[in-house]
Parts: sequence; structure tokens; C-alpha cells
Amino acid sequence: MKAVVIYGKEDFRYQEVEMPKVGKEEVVVKVGRCGICAVDPKILHGKGYVPPIVAKHVPIIAGHEFIGEVVELGEGAKEKYDLEVGDKAIAENIVPCWKCHYCQLGLYHMCDVHKIFGISGPDGGWAEYMKYPQGSIIWKVPEDMPYEIAVAIEPLACATHGVERANIQFSDTVVIAGGGAIGLFMLQVAKLKNPKMLIMSDLLEDRLSLAKELGVDVVINPGKDDIVKQVKDLTDGLGCDVVLEASGASVAVEQAVEMLRRRGRLMEFGVFAEKVCIDFSIIGDMKELEIIGGHLAFHTYPLTIKYLSEG
Ligand SMILES: [Zn+2]
Ligand SMILES: [Zn+2]
Repeated sequence: MKAVVIYGKEDFRYQEVEMPKVGKEEVVVKVGRCGICAVDPKILHGKGYVPPIVAKHVPIIAGHEFIGEVVELGEGAKEKYDLEVGDKAIAENIVPCWKCHYCQLGLYHMCDVHKIFGISGPDGGWAEYMKYPQGSIIWKVPEDMPYEIAVAIEPLACATHGVERANIQFSDTVVIAGGGAIGLFMLQVAKLKNPKMLIMSDLLEDRLSLAKELGVDVVINPGKDDIVKQVKDLTDGLGCDVVLEASGASVAVEQAVEMLRRRGRLMEFGVFAEKVCIDFSIIGDMKELEIIGGHLAFHTYPLTIKYLSEG
């Protein structure tokens, strides 16, 4: 079969590879679609903290935003996952070890071994076929959900987790920094929390118009306008309650801590190509900010499948 294999910086090869072989409690799928995450080009160009991790696992087939159709079920997989050959099925992006401190606590997405498809663990979905290995968390996807929708399950599950982490309240003014796939998904999920005001910021106008179509209250282009001033003006000088940072741009973090009100919350989901420098006095002495991290998805795949199947 054909696959895109990562060998290193600027070295992704579309080549012939062996078909995955199914083992006990494993599932082989024919890949229906596989997305390109913002981290994939960073791996290609050797930017940020992820490429050195990938380097320890090369050669590896890229892609963690996959969806496929079951073609082979290993011993016990049918019973464990309630799957039949021909079903659409997705595995969560991380394959937990189920033994480490975090897995024991149930925080499987924080697994210390941290095997992520196409990055640090099993081969990913930029291939004709792939295997969901033993230990995977696998979910059946409704047959009538087209692949072009189902391929959004992974990023939407991540965005949902990010929004959950921010603990949004009804009276909150929420700024979503970055209108890429994750930011736009966060917008749609954050809307379900019905906060007082939702603001989207991005440098690209087409993303901002899409955000408007998706029902955001205010859009700001920080390339054209002073975002900190605008957010303060919109909140009677107070600043916003929550920033969901999904841009991965260091300047967005600097702006986030400036535009947050005292005791505001910054939920950081972006993956950065470079280190970010902010004045930590703002976090402590000046504002008592809460900085919350978000990574992968945690118990949000089934919810996401439900959201997407209900439109
Ligand atoms: Zn991703
Ligand atoms: Zn673990």
C-alpha cells in the first residue's frame, strides 16, 4: 500500500509500505480521510517542540486526524469495541499505556508514555490502511456520517476539550485567539455554553467572515486594530474573562494576558513554533490570572460524534 512516511525535517516520502497486520484486540481500517493538523507542517519544517519527539520514532507514517472503515478485526476486538467489518470507526489520537501514574488516575490523555498516532507511537493515517493497536480507544462512527464530516471528529474533540478546560460561565466575555480549524471549532462549542459575548480574533479576513457566519458576536483583526483596546472598550475597561488561545502565535499570548481582566483565565491550546516571552508579573502581582493548559482530547470523542451526527 501507499503511505506518507516521515523520515525527518523536510523529508516526508510518499512510498510503498507493508500492509498493517492485525493482532489481538486490534483493528485494521481502510482510511477514509485523514486531516492535516497544524502540527504536521511544523514536523515537516522542524519547528517547535514536536519534531525532536518525532525524530525518536522515525520512520513513521504521518497523520492523527483519521477516520476509516473496519476491514479486519483481531481476536477479541469485535467484542471489546462492538465492531463489525464494514463499520466506520475512529481511534482516539493517543494510545494510552494504561499502566502509568496518569493512566491509573484515568487521565489517559496525559499518559507518560504518550504514544500519539503519526507522532510518537503507532503509524498514522496518511496511508491507505492503518491499524488501531491494542490499548487504543476505539469508537464506532454512524454509517451515514460522510468521511468529510467524520474527519473533523479528532480536531473537534480536541477543541471541545479545550473549551471544557476553560470552564466558561454564562456571564463571561470570551475571546478566541486564532480562527484556524481548532479556533472555529472552539467557537461553535463555546456557543453551546452561551456566554455573554464571544469574540474571535485572526489576521485573516476570510476566517473572520466564517466566524461571523458561525455566530460570533464580534470579530477583531489584530493586524489592523488594537485588539487589547477593543476588548477593553467592549468590556467597560475591565478586560475579558476568558481567552481561548488557539493560534500558536507568541504575540497572541502577550495580547491575551494584556486583555484579560484581573482573575481572568487563559486556556492555552496552541502549539508554538518558538518560545513565548511574557511578563509574568501580570500573571501574579498585577492580575492573579489563571493559566490553564489544554492538550489532545479527554472523554470528548463520543460527544463530538454526537454533535457531528446531529449536525
Ligand atoms: Zn492535531
Ligand atoms: Zn499511561
